[in-house]
Amino acid sequence: MLQFLNSDFQQFTQQDKQDKQDENTETEVPNNSQRQMRVKSFEEKPANKPLNLIFQMLLQKKTQKRQQIKVDPKSIPLSINLSVQVQELPIIRKIMDKNEWKKAHNFDGDILWCGPDNVQQAKQFTYDFAMVFMNLCISRIPGAKLISTKKETTSIMAKMRQYFPSIYNFYPKTYTMPEDLHEFIEDFEKKDGISYIAKPDKGTQGQGIFIVSQIEDLFNNSVKDISYIKKNYIIQEYISNPLLLDDKKFDFRLYVLITSLKPLIAYINEEGLARLCTENYQDITSSNLSNVYMHLTNYSLNKNSQNFIIHPPDFQKINLGTKRTYTSAKKTLMKMGIDVPKLKLRIEQTIVRFLYGIAPFLLNSTREIYQDKWEKANCFHVIGFDILIDRDLKPWIIEINANPSLEITQVIQNSNGSKRVETSSLDAYVKTKVIEDAFIIAIKTPQEQIEQIGKGKYCNSYKMIIDGQPPIENLDLFYKLVDLYSNLCGLRYGNLNQMRFCRLANNPQLINELLIKSDYDLIYKKIQLKSLQPDLNFVGFLEAIESISEKLLKRKASNYTLQKAVTYVVNMALKAPQQNQRPLTAKR
Ligand code: ADP
Repeated sequence: MLQFLNSDFQQFTQQDKQDKQDENTETEVPNNSQRQMRVKSFEEKPANKPLNLIFQMLLQKKTQKRQQIKVDPKSIPLSINLSVQVQELPIIRKIMDKNEWKKAHNFDGDILWCGPDNVQQAKQFTYDFAMVFMNLCISRIPGAKLISTKKETTSIMAKMRQYFPSIYNFYPKTYTMPEDLHEFIEDFEKKDGISYIAKPDKGTQGQGIFIVSQIEDLFNNSVKDISYIKKNYIIQEYISNPLLLDDKKFDFRLYVLITSLKPLIAYINEEGLARLCTENYQDITSSNLSNVYMHLTNYSLNKNSQNFIIHPPDFQKINLGTKRTYTSAKKTLMKMGIDVPKLKLRIEQTIVRFLYGIAPFLLNSTREIYQDKWEKANCFHVIGFDILIDRDLKPWIIEINANPSLEITQVIQNSNGSKRVETSSLDAYVKTKVIEDAFIIAIKTPQEQIEQIGKGKYCNSYKMIIDGQPPIENLDLFYKLVDLYSNLCGLRYGNLNQMRFCRLANNPQLINELLIKSDYDLIYKKIQLKSLQPDLNFVGFLEAIESISEKLLKRKASNYTLQKAVTYVVNMALKAPQQNQRPLTAKR
């Protein structure tokens, strides 16, 4: 076993190396100072034709390199079913009109568009008719509700960090309330220069967010008692050295399309939004920490600031405005001497890692809902990623949004003070790409997508960033755990009973002098009692496997890590399918 752990450790060290190599391929692009010089000399001599030409050629070369499939949306006669939709109709109707796509009725159509509140309805709609109306491609992954709260995201990221500490370091350290109150107080009182931001669990578009100046801020009452704690809050380390755009803090809203959970297939859209604050950024002091226009990038807040700048009609050419396109912000960063290709690559890597963290949990909840029909459930999902960049060009995932805003209107103040609502050309431009191209890709089967598009290549505005193959070995460990859980559950996914769980102990590789068969019963009972559920769900199962792994290997291996131990247990258990498939009556 020690030998196994050693070879596994070597493998993993190699993976780390590979990972670093991946990062190093970034050095193909000019480094910061080189780029700074190049951009500077270009800017200083605008009339310098040769340089201008070289710059253009370089740009052209880059564009040529991009491998892309171009699909004219009009050439695909899609029909969209809006039967369960109540929101987001303006953008969908706009896209349908533009491409002359038809509206489908009843259970017909290519795409079933369902809005944020319709997941349940869509589930009913599809679940009941799934076997008959399998051609419908549904615009929500049912399990995605899981990632719509910050607490859930936090707990998944904490789990991944526990297993892959060097990889999952892009989500700021987060405490959930009230569970982590004591740990937070301890860290806060160390006062080691870190600031903290408190946010309501569910996205509130900036409302209720504050920077914690004293522990008392976390209570609804002057009494520092846990019963008065602001319960549905998370507290997060505040990224206090943000990269600035026009001297202002900003974040990116990027759109990620998932078209298949197994194999995991995902894309990033080339376009997105940059949302700026409306007051110049300064390091946190007690006098500025409540200034939301300096510290929070939410559009919904900043649009009320007197410094708010609406984007110009020519937003693709003029890089101005409190809300801009991703492309526009990248142009400005490039001019500032920032190594934008490197930044883009880092952002993509971060998103890929994040997705590998959440996808197995999404798969689990999707399987709980769809049971044995889950593979036939034809779903896709557009997720909004909010990403903050620090001055070391490190991307931080601040929040993900399972229902990113598809609003394409904005309120404009007239000169006489009255207000009017009109279409925002910028939002319409970005969000049309995001949705229209998602439809075009989602109607292809996973196999077709892998064969016809392929990793690293674009289909219209989307670049495939995951093609089912984990970019780092073992990053699919949680997928294997879902497989194992499913094997053990048998026909009823989501409810693992004690008898089935204890079949693991039939595998001679999974018992030793430290862990005997009866320990399996004890482990099961202990977790079941804690969860107050009759059977183990996936999260309980994970806890049970961790417990088994620890007991089986901890005291034996000097280089024990949770990741290695769980990998061993899962691999051994999956290698012995005959153990798990024995008829129920033949236990042990
Ligand atoms: P909401 O769901 O209400 O929009 P977010 O988590 O997106 O909440 O936070 C709102 C804004 O606060 C972000 O857009 C960002 O500007 C700022 N912010 C949030 N968390 C952090 C953090 N950890 N460090 C720095 N700024 C943050």
